[in-house]
This record gives sequence, structure tokens and C-alpha cells, in this order.
Amino acid sequence: MNEDNSYQISLLSAMNTKLAKSEGILKNICDISESAFIYFDYEEKKPYVLGNWSHFFDFEPGKFLSVGQIVDLADDEFVEGIYRTLNLEKTGEEKSSFEFKMRDKNLYVNSNVNVLYDNAGIPVWKIIVFTDVTKYKNQNDELTYMAYYDSLTGLYNRNYFVLSLGEMVAKAEQNNAVVSILFIDVDDFRKVNDGMGILEGDEVVQSIGLSFKKMMDENLIISHFNSDIFCMAIYDPVGRRSVESIVDRIREIMRTPIKLVSGKEVTLTVSVGVAEYPESTNNYLELINLAEIVMLKAKNKGKNNVQYYDKPIIDEFIGNIEIEKKMSKALKNQNFVMYYQPQYDTNTKELRGVEALVRWCDEDGKLVSPETFIPIAEKNGSILLLGDWIIEECLSDLSRWKEKHNNMEDFLLSINVSSIQFKNKNFVKYLISIIKKYGISPTNVELEITESVFIDNMEEIIHKMKLLKDFGIRFSMDDFGTGFSSLSYLRELPIDTLKIDKSFIDDVVTDGSTRTIAESIIDLSKKLGFDTIAEGVEQEVQYSLLKNIGCENIQGFYLGKPMKFEEIDALLDKTDVKNS
Ligand code: C2E
Ligand code: CA
Ligand code: CA
Repeated sequence: MNEDNSYQISLLSAMNTKLAKSEGILKNICDISESAFIYFDYEEKKPYVLGNWSHFFDFEPGKFLSVGQIVDLADDEFVEGIYRTLNLEKTGEEKSSFEFKMRDKNLYVNSNVNVLYDNAGIPVWKIIVFTDVTKYKNQNDELTYMAYYDSLTGLYNRNYFVLSLGEMVAKAEQNNAVVSILFIDVDDFRKVNDGMGILEGDEVVQSIGLSFKKMMDENLIISHFNSDIFCMAIYDPVGRRSVESIVDRIREIMRTPIKLVSGKEVTLTVSVGVAEYPESTNNYLELINLAEIVMLKAKNKGKNNVQYYDKPIIDEFIGNIEIEKKMSKALKNQNFVMYYQPQYDTNTKELRGVEALVRWCDEDGKLVSPETFIPIAEKNGSILLLGDWIIEECLSDLSRWKEKHNNMEDFLLSINVSSIQFKNKNFVKYLISIIKKYGISPTNVELEITESVFIDNMEEIIHKMKLLKDFGIRFSMDDFGTGFSSLSYLRELPIDTLKIDKSFIDDVVTDGSTRTIAESIIDLSKKLGFDTIAEGVEQEVQYSLLKNIGCENIQGFYLGKPMKFEEIDALLDKTDVKNS
């Protein structure tokens, strides 16, 4: 052995030691790892198996000969993919990974494959790593579940429902079938939530959801949209008939009392809106909107109702949205104007005062009736802003009249106050501050309220009224006779005036019983010490009759229509103001 040889030998042995050492390290790493490894050397044509083999495979590592043994273990649906991945060198690719489920073990396995090729493109070695991803897979399933289902009820969530509805409608399009949407809203759910708490509210929703869930089949899907809102889609090859039977089933479900864990029982009703493809619209997203809009109509009809799609309902809804939009602009630009309708003493025809009536000048300068926009303003809350504006505007007008005319001590400005406005906690303070601002005597102000203000919390309302009455403000009960009009409760109310509704005046001449009612209202009103006024008096005969039966004041087109500030100004010049 020459020197060169001995050098080569010692180099080789050093390399071997090093190799053995790094092989050892590698083996250790692989053993510690939870994964299993296959190292395949193409020159040796022999696989090496390392790592946590037994976690994945029941056969001995030594019995592993080819990847085919592993392919055999995969669930059918994964066979093709895992075969391709484990035999990656056949494709010429360097890297790939594939997730598969093992048939007999409940394991999800991710296989990562790396192939090294030489310059000629011949594979040199291949490494396959198997990692157990079952844990992540289950987490993923949970995420997937949450992405599709509502956790409270187990029903479809909104997104998944919309997706499925799209498919349903596409299928219906091909088969000339009908898809019906039922938009379901629990009536008075807020009372449940407020009265029993959110937890029991959830229990109620859950219970309803579970009952609805039993209706699900391949042609009927149900979603819990949110809070107390559910939506069903029914694929219906025959037509409307099945919707009606579904509605019946919903009613039946709702009739059964809901038993809560606490032992309490509740029975609720629902309002349902129905829209159908293709009759209502071809667009599946719009279907849900239309069903929701007609559902609102079902609610307005007094709840526990079903409303089928009807174009005029939708048109009205859209019209209202238009008005709403224009109104918010009008509020900003103060495009409102106050009109005043005179009220007269029936006997002397002296001026008792005026009723302030708001009008809206739209963009074309046309006056829009408050009957159109007040209900909308009440619904969207803008009545508060508008109401404040009205109070300030008409009190300012009153102060200007008072500056110019004498003998106005007993003149009454009647202001209509919406229930929502009156219930607002700032109302009393605001009104008093404006009265003071314009230096007006509170005794010149009469608030017209309707019976609807007493519906929710009578005591609190009466308390508020008394505060204002102590300050000197008067109250008139507007539209009297149209609400619940229980005469006995009138006694408890701190009111000064009863305003007999126009509907009685319309018939008072032609209809004997209406006349009798009007007479007894006036009679009772006097006995209780109230002032009486009839509104909507249009004809001389109505006027004479009301005078005969003792109605003290009248208001109506017969003696004067609502008019502008200047016209009232002129009227005050030539008419005496009543002195009480
Ligand atoms: P309301 O308080 O019952 O007002 C009486 C309505 O009858 C007024 O209609 C008035 O113009 C009308 N009217 C008066 N005399 C006659 C008559 O002889 N014949 C006929 N056919 N109608 C007559 P308007 O001004 O359109 O107001 C309608 C409703 O809008 C009012 O009914 C009231 O509920 C509400 N409203 C009007 N102004 C205001 C306001 O400033 N604030 C609030 N909150 N509501 C208002
Ligand atoms: Ca009124
Ligand atoms: Ca009225």
C-alpha cells in the first residue's frame, strides 16, 4: 500500500463514519417524528423505511416492497390520486402532496413526495413522508360545518341556503318546476326575549328550528337566517298546492306549545311571506327579498298571517323607500311648510284657534300630504326630527301672530303629536324650552294626541301629560271614536278637549245611529268637563246639526281650509278671537 492508497482509505473510512453518523442522526430524527418515511434509492432499487411506521401501517416495515401496498389501503375515492402521487417519477414532476383517507383506519394522511432526477432526467431517489392530519381534518370539518350550518338550530345558515336555492332554481329552470320561498318571522319575539331573557329566547328559536328541521327533505330546505327569522325553499314540480300544505304544517308546529327547560311553556305565532319562481321573479336572490317584503305585509295585517306575493305590495314598498329617501333630503333642506286650519266657536263663529298641519313641498314644488309621509316618518324614526321642526316652526309663527294682533290671550294653537314623538324621553324638555324661547304662554298650546299613545304604558304617558298640564299646556284627544274609545277610561285622562273624528261627521246627517253616537259623545264630553270639537265639517247641514246637538267648536272645509301663515294673519285682522 503506497501513501496515496493509505490516504484514500483513511478518507473513505472517515467518510463512512461521517455517513454512518449522519444516517444515525437522520434515523433518530425520523424516529422522534410522528411521521413515517420511505426513502427509495433507484440505483439500489430498494426502499428504506423510517419513522413512525406502525402508526400508519399494520404490516412490518420489512415487508414493504412497493407503493402499491399503500395504494391498496386508501379509500376508493382516493386511489387514483394517491397512486399518481406515490408514483411521481412517472410524471417527471419533482414534488407533490396528496391527502387521502385510509379505508380501515379512521386516519386522514397527507403524503408528501420528493423525487430527485439526474441531468438526464433519470430518477435518483424518492422520499415519501406520511403525516397524520386527522386532527386538522376534523377541525376543518367543524369549520366546514360552521360555514354551512347554523350552530343554534343545525339548519342551513343563510349563505349555504342562498347557494342551495341558486341550485334549486337552476334545476327548476331546466324542468319547468316551481320553487317557493317562505320567509318566516316569529311574531312578537322581542317580547319573548325581553320578558324571558336571551337564553330562553335562544331556547325558543332552537325548539322552533328543530321542529322545522323535521320538514326537510330533498325538495325542502330550511335556514335559520338570524334571531327569529327562518326561510324555507320548496322545490315543487306540481305547483302552489304543496306550499299551502307546508303552511298548514308550519301552523300546526306553532300551535304546539314550546316547553322550556325551566318548565315554562310558550305558544307563539309566525308571519309568513311567500314568493315563487318563476311567477314572482326569475332571480333567486330577489325571491328572498320579495318574500320578506310580503311577510311585512302579513305582519301589518295583524300577524299570524300568510301573505302571498302580490305586485302592488312590492310597488308600495318600493314607493315608500323612494319617499323615505326623498324625505331625508327634505329634512336636511327643510322642505316642509306649516299650514293652519281655523277652528271656530260653533255659536259665535269666533276663532277658537288653529290646527297646525304639516306639508311637504317636493322637488317639483307640489305639496305632499302628511297622510303619505307621516306613517313612513314614524316607521323610520325621522318623525322625531320632523316633529321637533314642526314644534319650533309653529310656535315661532304663533309668536309672530301674537306680536301683530291683540286679544290673542285665549287663542289656541293645536299641534299634532305622534305617539312616537310623545314617548320620546326628550319631548317634555324640548317642548317647554321652545315655548320659553318664543315667549309664548303655555295656555295657548294644545297638543293633539291619539288613543294609540296609551297602548303600551298608560301610566307613564299620563304622568308625562300631567307634567305638561301643570306647566299650562292643554290636551286634545284626536280622532275620537276610531280607536278603542272606552268611555270609562276617559275620566282618568288629563285631557281638555275631545275631537270627534271626521268619519262620524261624514254620516251624522244621513245616518241616524251615527247621529245618536255623536250626540252621546258630546253629552258625555260635557259631563266630564271636556271641550268638544268636530272635525271635517264640510257642509252647512252638518254645521247646523252639530250646533243643534251642542257641539261647541267646529273645524272643516265649510268654514276654512288649511292655509298659510299669511292667510291666518289676514284672518286674524278681520275675525274676533274667542274668549273663554
Ligand atoms: P288629522 O289630525 O285628523 O288632521 C285632519 C285632516 O283632515 C287634515 O288633513 C285636514 O286637512 C283634513 N281636513 C280638515 N277639514 C276637512 C274637511 O272638511 N274635509 C276633508 N276631507 N278633510 C278635512 P292633513 O293635513 O292631510 O293631515 C292628515 C293627517 O296627517 C292628520 O290627520 C294627522 O294625523 C297627520 N298630520 C298632519 N300634520 C301633522 C303634524 O304636524 N304632525 C303629526 N304628527 N301629524 C300630522
Ligand atoms: Ca289632528
Ligand atoms: Ca283628526
